[in-house]
Amino acid sequence: MKNILNNKKILFIIISIIVILLLCTLIFSRYEVNIVKKKIPYIEDKKNSLSSDINQQELAPENYIASVPIFMYHFILDDYGNNMDVENFMKTSTLEEQIKYIVDNNYQTIFENELDKLYKYTKPVALTFDDCFVYFYNNAFPIIKKYKVKVTLNLIYNYMNGENYLTDAQVKEMLDSGLVSIESHTLSHKELTTLSNDEQRKQILDSKKKFEEKFGVEMSTICYPVGDYNQETINIAKEQYKFGLAMTGGVYHTNIHTDRYKIPRIYANRSMDINTFANYLKQSKVVIY
Ligand SMILES: [Zn+2]
Repeated sequence: MKNILNNKKILFIIISIIVILLLCTLIFSRYEVNIVKKKIPYIEDKKNSLSSDINQQELAPENYIASVPIFMYHFILDDYGNNMDVENFMKTSTLEEQIKYIVDNNYQTIFENELDKLYKYTKPVALTFDDCFVYFYNNAFPIIKKYKVKVTLNLIYNYMNGENYLTDAQVKEMLDSGLVSIESHTLSHKELTTLSNDEQRKQILDSKKKFEEKFGVEMSTICYPVGDYNQETINIAKEQYKFGLAMTGGVYHTNIHTDRYKIPRIYANRSMDINTFANYLKQSKVVIY
């Protein structure tokens, strides 16, 4: 009887040890998975290594959240003449101060067409210039080349080559630099909500086709003139574009602004000081899960 009891005891101890070992193995293997997962967000190392394996993969939007300040500029011109909208005229020296701040503080400039590739960056910021004035070429492009930052021009197709507007040759030269990309700001800058469905389609889709044919690029973004759009605008945009840019202020947070056809931008106006600019930049971040 005693023997049987002893045997049972030994069997119990052996089974217990096996169970404990199994539990330990299970817990440890889960812990290891967690360590591997946890490593991913910390790709924010000094190198901002784009060659990291995880960065090369396509990540679904639910796998990361990003906050990106997207600045919106118009005229880069010191003298605003008789114009009433003084705030639309940024001084060349202010633009240089801002771009220098971006570079000095290791922020990474991105094109509009990278707004779904934010996981490749750690401190992204986008600089966007609307309406294709020649002042961009004369005053901003030299600064952009000096600091080697990336910017996007939102061009109005029918305005090209007109007085005080960019020429085809200038746009080609800037595209060749690799620092400038172009996107559509429609055919003729009409407020889209005032148009019929057919007219909206022309403004939004024909401009894309014409720009792509002329410059041999692929366009991803429609920039709504004066930030004006309705549901019809978005429905049309969705047929051929990846993003729609609005003019609502503030930083673009992918977890809050989940509709990619209502992406907000920050108005970079003449009186914006460097501290205000820097405070927007501080919100830039990318977190990968
Ligand atoms: Zn505009």
